[in-house]
Amino acid sequence: MPEAQTATQARKRVLLIEDESAIRIVVTEILRHEGFEVIEASAGQVGIRTAVAREPDIILLDWVLPDISGLDVCREIRRQGVLCPILMLTGRSSKVDMVVGLEVGADDYITKPFDARELTARLRAHLRRSEGTPTASRREGLLVVGGIQVDIESRRVRIGEEEVQLTMTEFNLLALLAANAGRVLTRAQLLEKVWGYLADVDYHSVDPHMQRLRRKLHSNESARVALEAVPGLGYRLTPLA
Ligand code: CA
Repeated sequence: MPEAQTATQARKRVLLIEDESAIRIVVTEILRHEGFEVIEASAGQVGIRTAVAREPDIILLDWVLPDISGLDVCREIRRQGVLCPILMLTGRSSKVDMVVGLEVGADDYITKPFDARELTARLRAHLRRSEGTPTASRREGLLVVGGIQVDIESRRVRIGEEEVQLTMTEFNLLALLAANAGRVLTRAQLLEKVWGYLADVDYHSVDPHMQRLRRKLHSNESARVALEAVPGLGYRLTPLA
């Protein structure tokens, strides 16, 4: 295969939804320089349409947009079935805002102003997580817990005959819990393994993801599992008899 073609295939597509043109220009410049393909959207509605139509590998989403809020954009993108990582860009840094963002389906947030290195490091960390595991584990790549099948290779989850739609973060959390079924994983362990870093992150930012994962699992009658929060410790996925 020619090298140019390989490079094109490996190039990751970032959708940047940001109304401030100065920030858009700078971020686009940084990301293109780092080898990303960048699609720009300058408002919320066009951002939603672009997310659905262009299938980006990752989305950078500004919190404050002129037509609808970044939160509503995030919620709508998820509702339309887009599962790629979503990183919120926010000028605010309070924990409340962050938790609200995570509750509507964002995977992470970056507080403005950020530097180029931090931005690209975060993007790469999320893209690595969403890429799946090496082909060597193909045969062992299926985890089954209480009627839930977690296919690490194809990143698909089935409960009985039904496929469950999970975000990247929900999938990674479930895979980790399923691989450790019956054991408690602390929030620190989950953050470290799933997010890949611990800096300035509130441990409880795991909680909204867990709540949504639990709702998705428990709403299916064929799932014979309990996804429990263990007070003072963390989370545990237990198969039920
Ligand atoms: Ca803005």
